[in-house]
Amino acid sequence: MSHSSFRRDWITKPIFQMAQHALPGLSETEREAIEAGDVWWDAELFTGNPDWNKLLAFAPARLSAQEQQFLSGPVEELCRMLDDWKINWQWHDLPPEVWDFLKIRKFFAMIIPQAYGGLGFSAYAHSEVIRKLSSRSICAACTAMVPNSLGPGELLLQFGTKPQQDYWLPRLARGEEIPCFGLTSPEAGSDAASMLDSGVVCRGTFDGRDVLGIRLNWHKRYITLGPIATVQGLAFKLHDPDHLIGDRDDIGITLALVPTHLPGISIGRRHLPAMHVFQNGPNWGHDVFIPVDHVIGGVDQVGKGWKMLMSALAAGRGISLPSLSAAGAAYTAHVTGAYARIREQFHVPISQFEAIKERLGRMAATAYLLDAARRMTCAALDAGHHPAVVTAIMKAQATERMRVSVDDAMDVHGGKAIIEGPLNYLGSLYRGVPIGITVEGANIVTRALIQFGQGAIRCHPYLLKEMMALEDADQTRGLDAFDRAFWAHVGHSIVNALRAWGRAWTGGLFAPAAQAGAATPFYRQLSRHAAAFALAVDLALLTLGGALKRKEMVSARFSDILSELYLSSAALKRWNDEGRQNDDFPLLEWCMEASFATIATRFDEIIANFPSRPVAWLLRLLIQPLGPRRRGPSDQVTARCAEIITNPCPARDRLTVDLYHPRETENENGLALVERAFAMTVAVQPIRDRMRTARVRDTAQALKQRTITAAEAASLKAAADAVAAAIAVDDFAPEELTSRGAANKGDVSSQATSQATRQLTSEQLPSGPVPPQSYPAPAAPAAAAE
Ligand SMILES: Cc1cc2nc3c(=O)[nH]c(=O)nc-3n(C[C@H](O)[C@H](O)[C@H](O)COP(=O)(O)OP(=O)(O)OC[C@H]3O[C@@H](n4cnc5c(N)ncnc54)[C@H](O)[C@@H]3O)c2cc1C
Repeated sequence: MSHSSFRRDWITKPIFQMAQHALPGLSETEREAIEAGDVWWDAELFTGNPDWNKLLAFAPARLSAQEQQFLSGPVEELCRMLDDWKINWQWHDLPPEVWDFLKIRKFFAMIIPQAYGGLGFSAYAHSEVIRKLSSRSICAACTAMVPNSLGPGELLLQFGTKPQQDYWLPRLARGEEIPCFGLTSPEAGSDAASMLDSGVVCRGTFDGRDVLGIRLNWHKRYITLGPIATVQGLAFKLHDPDHLIGDRDDIGITLALVPTHLPGISIGRRHLPAMHVFQNGPNWGHDVFIPVDHVIGGVDQVGKGWKMLMSALAAGRGISLPSLSAAGAAYTAHVTGAYARIREQFHVPISQFEAIKERLGRMAATAYLLDAARRMTCAALDAGHHPAVVTAIMKAQATERMRVSVDDAMDVHGGKAIIEGPLNYLGSLYRGVPIGITVEGANIVTRALIQFGQGAIRCHPYLLKEMMALEDADQTRGLDAFDRAFWAHVGHSIVNALRAWGRAWTGGLFAPAAQAGAATPFYRQLSRHAAAFALAVDLALLTLGGALKRKEMVSARFSDILSELYLSSAALKRWNDEGRQNDDFPLLEWCMEASFATIATRFDEIIANFPSRPVAWLLRLLIQPLGPRRRGPSDQVTARCAEIITNPCPARDRLTVDLYHPRETENENGLALVERAFAMTVAVQPIRDRMRTARVRDTAQALKQRTITAAEAASLKAAADAVAAAIAVDDFAPEELTSRGAANKGDVSSQATSQATRQLTSEQLPSGPVPPQSYPAPAAPAAAAE
């Protein structure tokens, strides 16, 4: 008997049998979620020994000339057309010319290949468009976002049959069809797979023909673009009681394209999500009949809806909301830095108060970090990866951190940001934050179940192999596979334990690092933490097994550590990719120190709450013998970060590159007023310094004493006027507030529907491929609002 056979039969086999009983199997939806997408840098972090050179060698995301032109052309033009105040509070919709512009310039077709008449943009270009739009109008950004993320376009591209692609994609690209995607229903939110919406396979009449089809009944809610959609991607559970398409009664979650004009559909009513007016609403279907070839991917794809959804989400989750969040963080840092510089209290700019600097510093560093992570993730997507765990991290972390930045911005602005009106440039974003937190997987569940729960299975070098082996119907083959994976796992754990212990006890001084100048020590610390993470993961899996899934507080802390490792890697990569800018170093340092402090705290919390105390003590001894010793960024670093956004400088500009900047002429724009006041305040600073040195506060006296010239006095006056305009807030006549609601009440939905679904004239429509005759053409979309 060979050594390996002895090991397999006498040592591995009992473990194999025990594990088969102890570990709960994966549910079908869990398995499909785990099989969707792939792994990337997340898997490297799970090894405990990430290869930094691999990260730095990864090509950064780049825009093509055409993409760059789109940003400086149509996107800039669109931003100028938008007036967020009027959109939200007066029109309750985008104006008709904006809807037309979105369609004609193909904002709804960024992901559709050029062969179908779309723009065929990279993930990075798509992200840049959403980012820039988000800095101008959340409503416009959400409207442009939806057709380019999870929905008919994406699903057709990945899973559609050729006739479906040939029919729908050119129509979507030309803006003739407005898509939405209906997954959520009243009873099924986070647990979307528990939906009651159903379809029954049957025969019926469609377009005068007797066809095999599906009779649908549903109630969906919260559906973005739903009220004006001409086609809804619908998720439902398919049943086949008469076995017309197979031998199963219950086929499972299925996705179909449902033209919204069909009889039995009620659509058009609107929700008001946090007083944001992008089109969003409920819809219902009662005995709606569709031919079976409306199933996305055709009859072969029935029952595979969950897998399709997870696969589409694996990429999309990393683009839309992270782009909006990165824009939100950069925009708020930029404007709050300027505002803090022009707003004076106690005779000094509030930017000089330490407690304000604390917030400004955090905002500046968050802006740097989120954009670093957004760019790195887009680069991975453009390289062909679909890293589901990374994109879940991005979605949850970006939206959470944007929330902190927006709260900071609100607090620094005080009443100025609270009073609504055309001059308020923060209220809209503030109200929008919970939307980002909730959609595409609410953050609490994403953090507790997905990031680490799925990450541990997919990214761990051996765990998935072991689980697959345990579930193998062929016991001998399963045992062989388990034997190989299990012992490799044991070796990996031992090496990691030694690695983690060595790096912890030497403070990470000798841990591997890329040669990255001043940033090199950060790599060493991350290497130290990655080893500790890998060891802690193995001990948690060993002692908790399947129960880890229910220990959400423990799992969420592991998620935080994994997220910190990912985001910090991105910050390091950005600093390197941008040529190691010295001026940006405080931002990098802030991000890294904050990350190390969070990681140390989470490890401490995991150890304190670990159910098995002996294992907790072992973990403490190996990875954190002296407890959590990182305290976060120093006050000095925080102050330097704050200075970056309160002074005009290249580092400040780098944070907002390619965001929308209002033009000086846009007097009505509150942001433009702050920008102007900021520039003028900075320009007169030397004059004010001279007056301070001469101990004169009053301009007239300074003139009299010849401390300043008449021209300088005029500049001071102009700057003071600009500041007065910038700090102003809106007020309304009482009748304006009481009458506006009543005046608009009757026409909100009719106005919205007529503007958005207005058919473009043939001259307005760009040319594109002609749809084939074979696919059933829907009737005129006149009943969308009925
Ligand atoms: C503005 C807006 C636009 C939307 N657009 C669309 C759309 O176009 N199409 C579509 O299909 N849907 C859409 N949605 C729905 C969105 O995806 C859901 O709101 C989301 O999935 C959460 O569902 P829920 O709101 O019912 O919250 P619930 O599922 O009721 O969750 C409530 C809370 O419980 C937490 N939670 C749930 N389960 C767990 C768990 N196991 N462990 C820990 N915490 C848990 C959640 O994180 C959340 O914090 C939209 C929603 C909004 C608000």
